[in-house]
Amino acid sequence: MVTGILALQGDFALHQQRLHELGAKSVLVRKAQMLHAVDALIMPGGESTTLLRLLDDNFRKSLQEAIQGGIPVLATCAGLILLSRGVTNPGQDSLALLDIDVERNSYGRQIDSFVDLNLNWTSAGRSELELVSQNGLANAASRTMEGVFIRAPRITRTGDGVTVLVERGLEPVLVKQGKILGATFHPELSENAKAVHQLLLEQI
Ligand code: GLN
Repeated sequence: MVTGILALQGDFALHQQRLHELGAKSVLVRKAQMLHAVDALIMPGGESTTLLRLLDDNFRKSLQEAIQGGIPVLATCAGLILLSRGVTNPGQDSLALLDIDVERNSYGRQIDSFVDLNLNWTSAGRSELELVSQNGLANAASRTMEGVFIRAPRITRTGDGVTVLVERGLEPVLVKQGKILGATFHPELSENAKAVHQLLLEQI
């Protein structure tokens, strides 16, 4: 089993490190044809407008086909923006494969980035996350996880097929639709959010 990490731009290296820690094989995906050789995909954070520009028509079509074909995906921050149905602030085109709307840079600029130590698992999140957190992960007891938010988007709408797994107050920050996981924060930056990558691996 190999997890591909989209490596056109952004913080792909830390995702690779996290997968390595979890004993999972990974490969950096820089060409469309590599999508045929992976069993799961991570779409990392970065800058979504830049990412969109770097995706040529062929790459975009291959991504769409792979995700519609049911490959498990973890999309974070800019990666999440790429997958969302509706994007505002400013608006831009997207792959529209995840039935949520997002507002970009919703918490302000780079200097307004923050860490929240206590994101709460919802009851739906609990049943998914407890399964993968059994092996001694600290957050299984508190049912919280840490979230690093960097010029993060805010999810402003979730469609009927979307389940919220983790919340910040009343706002969804980790959602799931079929085999697509979407996080507005950066789980690769928190030891305490390892369960997110584990959940991805579990979908394979
Ligand atoms: N603000 C970025 C965007 O709109 C996303 C930031 C991130 O991925 N950390 O694309």
